[in-house]
Amino acid sequence: MTTTTDQASGLLSALASELPGMRLLQDASDVESYRFDETAYLSAGHPLAVCFPRQTSDVEAIVRLCAAAGVSIVARGAGTGLSGGAVAIDGAITVSFMHMNAILEIDPANLTVTTQPGIINAELNRAVAAHGLFYPPDPASFEMCTIGGNLAENSGGLRCVKYGVTRDWVLGLEVVLADGSVIRTGGKNIKDVAGYDLTNIFVGSEGTLGLITEATLRLLPLPPAKLTMIAFFPTVAAAGEAVSRITAAGIVPVTLELMDAFTIAAVDDVHQLGLDRAAGAMLMVESDTGAEAAERELAVAEEACNAAGASSVVRAADAQEADWLRQARRAAHGSLERAGVARMDDVGVPRSRIPEMLANIERIAAAHKLRVGVFGHAGDGNLHPTYILDRDDPSAEARIEAVRDEIYRAALELGGTVTGEHGTGLAKKRWLELQRGTRAVDVMRSIKGALDPNGLLNPGKVF
Ligand SMILES: Cc1cc2nc3c(=O)[nH]c(=O)nc-3n(C[C@H](O)[C@H](O)[C@H](O)COP(=O)(O)OP(=O)(O)OC[C@H]3O[C@@H](n4cnc5c(N)ncnc54)[C@H](O)[C@@H]3O)c2cc1C
Repeated sequence: MTTTTDQASGLLSALASELPGMRLLQDASDVESYRFDETAYLSAGHPLAVCFPRQTSDVEAIVRLCAAAGVSIVARGAGTGLSGGAVAIDGAITVSFMHMNAILEIDPANLTVTTQPGIINAELNRAVAAHGLFYPPDPASFEMCTIGGNLAENSGGLRCVKYGVTRDWVLGLEVVLADGSVIRTGGKNIKDVAGYDLTNIFVGSEGTLGLITEATLRLLPLPPAKLTMIAFFPTVAAAGEAVSRITAAGIVPVTLELMDAFTIAAVDDVHQLGLDRAAGAMLMVESDTGAEAAERELAVAEEACNAAGASSVVRAADAQEADWLRQARRAAHGSLERAGVARMDDVGVPRSRIPEMLANIERIAAAHKLRVGVFGHAGDGNLHPTYILDRDDPSAEARIEAVRDEIYRAALELGGTVTGEHGTGLAKKRWLELQRGTRAVDVMRSIKGALDPNGLLNPGKVF
């Protein structure tokens, strides 16, 4: 989409006069911190402006004015995305949802919360917890990322084994479409099959089909406090084997997370938890089924770990120690950053193929002499190989590209996916067709064409 200077300045004047109370950043230094997400290695455009709507009618007006001026729109939550979805586009308007962060209603009788999209995931959880309620999806970035970003990425987290991903908790959305009109896709009904399931077209659409301005989410009563166990293994393969055995044992722990030796050392350097640094891998297993049931569940998990060759299995001494372990796992990426530039990737395989996928990652990284730390949501079959490079290594970029390509192809050969939870954005575009096939991508393009015929919303992302 090409926009003339006159159209651009006309749009800025129209935004300022129609929405005089709205924060509108135009200065290059002011918009700089809204150009990137957590994929700083991707190149970002220079937005025309960044605006901060407070209500749906502001978003309607922004989209209507942008459509009239032929200016593209990039929706933005907290910018923690790991596939480049919120990365700025030259000459586009970035719409930050950070000021649309009000919880509109907590409804204990229906076990729902209705919220604006800019609320931070952890803040929403704290608010519903005050009513004895619980919103399960919790990306490791939960203290930073927004519900809007979670919806647009269909994010996962550390509780997916038991509770599923964001999509499983959405009852309805309010969405501003590319022409500035507003639709609602559902409400508080648990069962509602009127027409096509539009909610799930927008969940995971990465800001390319509409701007989510409100969401009604399902809640649960707060579960009992968790029991936490960690198991160390001599090799990554043995830990992978334990994941398969735990899954096959018929228990559903709330958390089943893996860290390899490289990640254990990095995390222990930062958090000083006394982890077994001689181990090849570690699993963190948690149960939230309540005291005795949780004991039983962890006993089954312990047996599976021992059968897979665990070198030691320990329980967190108390809730505080469990919390430290959880925080350390959430901070795995940050800890790896101490070793060099850390670039987190995201692949998934059916859970039974985890041991093979771990072996593939190890083999491919070794062949390309690339340091890789692996951690992730092993219980979901979702791994985050994290490439560590020296800033001044001129060959690193090319080697990472080769490693990525081989890892994605290995995942696909195992029936997996090139992205389990971080999305396609800019980072995985090249592999979308390889996974889904030409015809399926054609269908996606038709949906995009029907909802956004002029390619106004986040153009160049996903496809
Ligand atoms: C340390 C770290 C750990 C992470 N751990 C996890 C994890 O465990 N699981 C996981 O799934 N992800 C994880 N992520 C990735 C990231 O946090 C998630 O993708 C998160 O959902 C992004 O939310 P955000 O608010 O930062 O969105 P942004 O990065 O700002 O945007 C993400 C996408 O959503 C779109 N978008 C944002 N708001 C709206 C809206 N209102 N309407 C329409 N589109 C919108 C944007 O256009 C973009 O395409 C992690 C990231 C980091 C840095």
